[in-house]
Amino acid sequence: MKNKVRVRFAPSPTGPLHIGGVRTALYNYLFARKHGGDFVLRIEDTDQSRFVPGAEQYITEALDWLGIPPDESPKKPGKFGPYRQSERQDVYKEHIDRLTDNGWAYYAFDSEQELTELRQAHEKDGETFIYNWQNRTHLNNSLTLSADEVAGLINKGTPYVIRFKWPLDTVVQFDDLIRGRIQINANTLDDKVLFKSDGMPTYHLANIVDDHQMEITHVIRGEEWLPSLALHCQLYKAFGWEAPVFAHLPLILKPVGKGKLSKRDGEKLGFPIFPLQWKESPGYREAGYFPEAVINFLALLGWNPGTEQELFSLEELMGAFDLNRVQKSGARFDPDKNVWFNHQYLQLKPLGELVSLFRKVLSERGIPEKDYSDGHLASVVSLIRERASFIHEFWDLGSYFFKAPEGFDEKAVRKQWKSETPKRISDLADVIEAAESFTAQAAERIVKTWITDNNLGFGQVMPPLRLSIVGAMKGPQLFEIMELIGQEETVSRMRFAVTNIKAKS
Ligand code: GLU
Repeated sequence: MKNKVRVRFAPSPTGPLHIGGVRTALYNYLFARKHGGDFVLRIEDTDQSRFVPGAEQYITEALDWLGIPPDESPKKPGKFGPYRQSERQDVYKEHIDRLTDNGWAYYAFDSEQELTELRQAHEKDGETFIYNWQNRTHLNNSLTLSADEVAGLINKGTPYVIRFKWPLDTVVQFDDLIRGRIQINANTLDDKVLFKSDGMPTYHLANIVDDHQMEITHVIRGEEWLPSLALHCQLYKAFGWEAPVFAHLPLILKPVGKGKLSKRDGEKLGFPIFPLQWKESPGYREAGYFPEAVINFLALLGWNPGTEQELFSLEELMGAFDLNRVQKSGARFDPDKNVWFNHQYLQLKPLGELVSLFRKVLSERGIPEKDYSDGHLASVVSLIRERASFIHEFWDLGSYFFKAPEGFDEKAVRKQWKSETPKRISDLADVIEAAESFTAQAAERIVKTWITDNNLGFGQVMPPLRLSIVGAMKGPQLFEIMELIGQEETVSRMRFAVTNIKAKS
């Protein structure tokens, strides 16, 4: 192994970061941290036609939000810059010249239209056209043209590409840390384009030149790049360089378990697929996920620690992560599990943090939060957090702590509000109003004593009492709620219910 572990995340700025890309970044980050190495962000923007403004900024912001920022990046250059491929053009030119000089690559002048026609003609005969040893000797390229003809065409400004020349009968053999040994007969591969006459390299050339120059020791990336690996390994040979170690991560599968997870799955089932909002697509951040929950969830999407442990802080992941425990088969994306992680992290958050997050929710709802002390809000949060997976759910779970119910759950009214109920609630309100102290315990004592004294059953009083105070048959311990909203408010809600709920039977 080379000296220091160096890994890179190399997205193309063609749009927002998909959750699969985030997982690739995360595994790279964890591997770097585990081995005391460097995590590099390189922007692969050689395909100008697919460039999307704002995408690079988005990627950086997403990694920052997730808490996995790169050690080196366009924004934070180290000594291996520039970190945007569009700024490294000279490097690629010099390297493609080396390949053409040594017979590893050749100029090809065939136009798009000529190639399309060739493809169609082959298809008609039930064959597939491959630009390689089968066809290269009778096409318009520097293998068939004289040096003068080639120079003439280039000088005239004829568009060209430079293709890799696979040597005939090459069997490439290489190892992938996750897939094991792979062997490919290169006679089936096409002579990939490495460089174009606009002066830009294609992904393949730029990627391996940069990985070499940036002293990348391990290439950890998505499975979709596996078919390119033979070419990449051969390019390392052509340059006479030692190849890095490769690890191709499994696909992330749809929640149903078949097929690759797509943006449409998220839209259909209502879960985010991007870390941050992108245009009209919601992000994890905006949907209320905690970055540490997203990290924990993604870490286990294709990797397992070999134990039953599910909750891992980022620190713990850095210690436990091991590429040897990354699975080969696709990893099913389970949106419910994602929510489960958020729920777990919410339960682990310090109460003070939840209170300040809750204050934001309250102010969005127009509740004058200055009316409520931290202590009061902490009591409310303590009562409802257990049922919440997201902070924004605090409102639905506890709006009645701040606002009297405006309506009453109809089903509950039908079931609980009998013709004799209003009188009972009204009498009970009188007793509560007269009480001297009003803690949860006191309220409990008063209500229970009154029920017993009047020879009633708990089921005749407690449910309608809850309905009066909460508006529905939900919520934590009723006496706790009564204490928190206070004696006056409790009585007022009971009286409001008495005059406003119409008994159904
Ligand atoms: N630019 C490639 C991408 O967008 C990077 C692939 C690699 O990591 O080699 O995914």
